Formats: sequence, C-alpha cells, structure tokens
Amino acid sequence: MSFENLNLIEPIQRALTAEGYTTPTPIQQQAIPLILEGKDVLGCAQTGTGKTAAFSIPILQLLYQQRQSKRGIQVLILTPTRELAIQIDESIAAYGKFTRTTHTVVFGGVSQLRQTTALKRGVEILVATPGRLLDLMTQGFIDLRNLSVFVLDEADRMLDMGFINDVKKVIAKLPPKRQTLFFSATMPPEIQKLADVLLTRPSKIEV
Ligand code: AMP
Repeated sequence: MSFENLNLIEPIQRALTAEGYTTPTPIQQQAIPLILEGKDVLGCAQTGTGKTAAFSIPILQLLYQQRQSKRGIQVLILTPTRELAIQIDESIAAYGKFTRTTHTVVFGGVSQLRQTTALKRGVEILVATPGRLLDLMTQGFIDLRNLSVFVLDEADRMLDMGFINDVKKVIAKLPPKRQTLFFSATMPPEIQKLADVLLTRPSKIEV
C-alpha cells in the first residue's frame, strides 16, 4: 500500500513526497479514509506510530476541499504538552506546505503576545494545550463558532497530568455539530466515559 492509494489531493501528495514518506503506517492506512468520510474515530495508538500524520493529513485535505465556505478556527487539536503541540504544528506546516492552510499553536509558560497576534490574523487550524487555551478563550481571543473538527490527542495523558477538568471545560464550549477524533494509548474507565460522551458511532482503530 502506498499513499497513492489513499486518494489524497495533489498538493498533499507532493508534500508527503517532499518529506520522504512513501508508505502509510498502519494507523494512517486505517484512519485517513475514515476521517475523509467524516466519521468520528477512536484511535488507540501511541506516539511513534504515525498518529499525527494520520489525523493531520485528512484534516488538511477536508479543509482544502471545503475552503472559502467558512471563516475562523475550523479545527482544534488539543494535546497535553508544549512539546507535542509544537511537533503537531510543525507536522501540519510540513504536510500543508502546498495547501497554504493557516495554523498556529498556543501553549503556556511563555508570553501571550505572539500567540494572540497570530490568532488575530486568523487561522484555520489551532493546536493548543488546555490551560493556555482556556485562558485565551476567557479573554475572548478565540472564536470556535465555526469549528468543524475537534481532535483530542493523548487523552489518557491529559488525565495523568491533571488536565482532564480543563479539557472538559473546553469541550463544553465546542459546537455540538462536529467531527471528533479521539486518541489515547490506554483506555482507563474515566477516559472511556469521556470517549462515550464525545463520539458519535465512532470507528475504532487499534495499532
Ligand atoms: P508520530 O507517531 O505522529 O509522533 O510520528 C512519528 C514519526 O514518524 C514522526 O517523526 C513522523 O515524521 C514519522 N512518520 C509518520 N508517518 C510516516 C510515514 N508514513 N513514513 C515515514 N515517516 C513517517
């Protein structure tokens, strides 16, 4: 199986070739078609499996195909740590280099100014850690009214790191009509409960 079999648009195919990617990983083979179909996905996968590309590539394609119809943030990716947030944002920059998708990343521990300046310019994809996202939402810097895709990355680590209440506060503010992609390496009961609430008839992927 190669990326050519996944019906990707030319600007994304070209970016993957530029990255040196030829073969999709198992999670990519399974997740990309489901996400392109608009399905909710429950993915049990660790870092290192190619999980980031598995959700970023189809999201970039959906945005490219739906472009000009909506304004404001259309995709929110929540992840527990600054390092993961930066990595995801860099992956989106690489895979989306020819789709010209706008994106930015917000995380705590640094000044807000660069982040709020980027948000004011407007982005299609926002990658965020929960605490800083809530801060910025409370201050009115973030409009999620046009959100169509929500990704919760490393849900079990959100719980381990004590971020789960912040995550729930963010979720309460999201528009109910959306596609949700939920990733967790393990499924403790509290995370399973959250997945049950968040996902509608999800396709399950285990790698
Ligand atoms: P992740 O699990 O998303 O953290 O990805 C792990 C690493 O694998 C990252 O450095 C990616 O750049 C790389 N990677 C992801 N998918 C592929 C692929 N299909 N071919 C080659 N490298 C990949």
